[in-house]
This record gives sequence, C-alpha cells and structure tokens, in this order.
Amino acid sequence: MHPIRRGDRGPAVTEIRGILVGLELLPDGEQTDEFEAGTERAVRAFQQSRGLSVDGQVGAETWRALDAARWRFGARTLYHAVPEPLCGEDVRSLQERLLEMGYDAGRADGIYDARTARAMAQFQREVGLRPDGTCGPQTMNALQRLGRKVIGGRPQWLRESDVLRRSGPNLVGKIIVIDPGHGASDPGVVVPDGSLRWTEADLAYDLATRLEGRLAAAGTRVHLTRGPAPAAPLPDLTRAELANELGADLLISLHIDGHANSEANGVATYHYGTNSGVTSTVGEHLAGLVQREIVARTGLRNCQVHAKTWELLRLTRMPAVRVEVGYLTSPVDRSRLVDPRFRDKVVEAIVAAVQRMYFPAEQDVPTGSIDVGELRATVAAGSTGPD
Ligand SMILES: [Zn+2]
Repeated sequence: MHPIRRGDRGPAVTEIRGILVGLELLPDGEQTDEFEAGTERAVRAFQQSRGLSVDGQVGAETWRALDAARWRFGARTLYHAVPEPLCGEDVRSLQERLLEMGYDAGRADGIYDARTARAMAQFQREVGLRPDGTCGPQTMNALQRLGRKVIGGRPQWLRESDVLRRSGPNLVGKIIVIDPGHGASDPGVVVPDGSLRWTEADLAYDLATRLEGRLAAAGTRVHLTRGPAPAAPLPDLTRAELANELGADLLISLHIDGHANSEANGVATYHYGTNSGVTSTVGEHLAGLVQREIVARTGLRNCQVHAKTWELLRLTRMPAVRVEVGYLTSPVDRSRLVDPRFRDKVVEAIVAAVQRMYFPAEQDVPTGSIDVGELRATVAAGSTGPD
C-alpha cells in the first residue's frame, strides 16, 4: 500500500484520525480530513507503543496495527472465524484475561484461533454458560461479573482445591510430572571443579530420578519430562504441553540456581502468579510447603516463595512449582549439592510437601515431621479415610 503521510487528505485520513481519537492519542473534537502535524505526532506515538518503526507514516504494517487497535473489548462478538480469523486488541485482551485465569489460550497474539475458542469454551463450561467458544454479550457479562473475584484464585484451580480436599490423604494413583530443568546442549549453570565439571542439568536429573523412586514407592504414577541425555533442548512450552497431555495432578520442576556473585546462596520456590495479585491458589500452597520442608530439613538459606508467569507455570493446567535448589555457584551450597545424601534429604522434603498437599487442612502436620520412611503406612491408613 502507498503510505499515507503528512499533507495527504481524504476519507482514509479521516478513518486513521478516528482510530487515533479512539486510542486517545488525538483529542476528540476538531474534525478534519487532513494528515497534519498533530496526526503525524499521534501516528509516531502509536508506532512507538506497538514497537513498529517510527516514521510518522501509515504504511501497510502500521495500517494493520491501527486496524487491529480499533477494536476495544466489548465492541463486537468474538468467535473463531474460518478461514480469516478475527484479529484485534480486543482478542488480545480476552486472551490475556483467559491466560491469567489459567485457561490455555496459547499466545496472547490477538488472533482468535481454535485454541482461543477452546479456552473460551472451557471457561464458559465452568461458569455454567453454553460452551460454544463464542464471546458474546452474555459471556462478556460473566467475565465482567467475575471481575475481581477471579483475581486471587483461578477458578479451575479453586475447583482443583476442592477435588484435593475430597480426595483425602492419598497419593495412590496420582499422576505427578517431574521436570528436570535444561538438558542436551543446554546444561544450565556450569561450574568447573578441578578435573570435574558440575552442571545444573545433571544434578537436576539426579534429583528427579531420586524423587521419582520415592514418589513411585508411595503409589503415584510418575513421569519425567526428559531422560538423562535428551537429543535436543526441550523448551518449557513443550514440557507444559506434555504435562497437560498426561493429565498430571502436579508438576514439580527442578533447577539449581547460579549467580555471578559466589556469595548468593539458598533455596527458592516459584508458582504461577502476577504482581497484580493473580495467583494459583493450589500452586502457591504447594510452593509454600516445598519451600518450608526443604528449609527445615536441609538448612539451605530461605530465599522465599515467589509468583512468576513463566510459560511452564502459566500454561500447565495442574498446580505447578519450580524449585531452585541452592546455588551451584556458591561454594557452600555446592559442597552440599554434590553429596548424594544431601540430595536425598532434598527429595525427602519434596515428598513430605507433596504428602502434606493431600492432607485435609485439619489433618496437616508440622513442617519437618513426616517420616518419609513410613509414608506407605500413612498412605495405607489414609486410604480408609474420607472418600
Ligand atoms: Zn535452571
């Protein structure tokens, strides 16, 4: 398309100015069909805000972005159109909203594709609307009504928390995915040690297999996201999809941290959440248990629990946590991490946290008090409990 620029006149300019007014980049009022200095400034501001090259002219790319931007959420019904999907800012805000609530809408790319429609339908089903994947007035109302209520508890996870309570203190049959971080050409943190070379990928894998053994002994079905030497690095998105396909009850991702400053040390646990207070209720609970059990049983410094929107945490449909078990770059943490007995202690702490996760709140026990050696007995006793 021929770029529309300063000095041009006509209906196309009127339309561009209309969109810019809608975006509050141009003052409402003065009607003109001329692309004057004010319009150029507004176009530049728009281009800057969208990461486009800033030339103050409306070429094909800027036009597409303007065309998408004119749609404010609520202005039209959104649905999965074939073969030309609906695009726009309204689609993007809906996708962000769905993702925040824990529905797998894929990337917030502003395109209403099949995946967005599926996530939409899942939301509709859970709030009791007809799950047709179309976001019309009724669904928009429901989204608005949920408003702040959704913040602080993703509905599907609140429901899972209910399922958890009802399932009783029983690990038997639970599907747990353990995700050893990194692998293949991505070793993660690497620290040379004399003739040896410690890598985060190898230590995470060792922790994962120890944890796999303990959890399997407790009657859970355990899957690892990767083997000891995968052919290629595995992106977090693929790891999340794998856990979703397996219908996992929990995902535990194992990493070991590193820092340029060798003084940095300690353990931290992460769950899904944003700074604005959206959180995975169950994920946050599990992260707190894992963190407390590890600190109590190993003496690693407590670097606390944190909310993150990383893909692995955001796109998994089950409660998911990522543990950074100490700093490989800290001589203190490293001397402990390379000791297999220490790694066993870490694993015991995680098993205890998972066990506590399935205790009803009133039967929970103090941190550090579960004897993992007696786990089978606990599980057996628990299976005659509430159904
Ligand atoms: Zn890592």
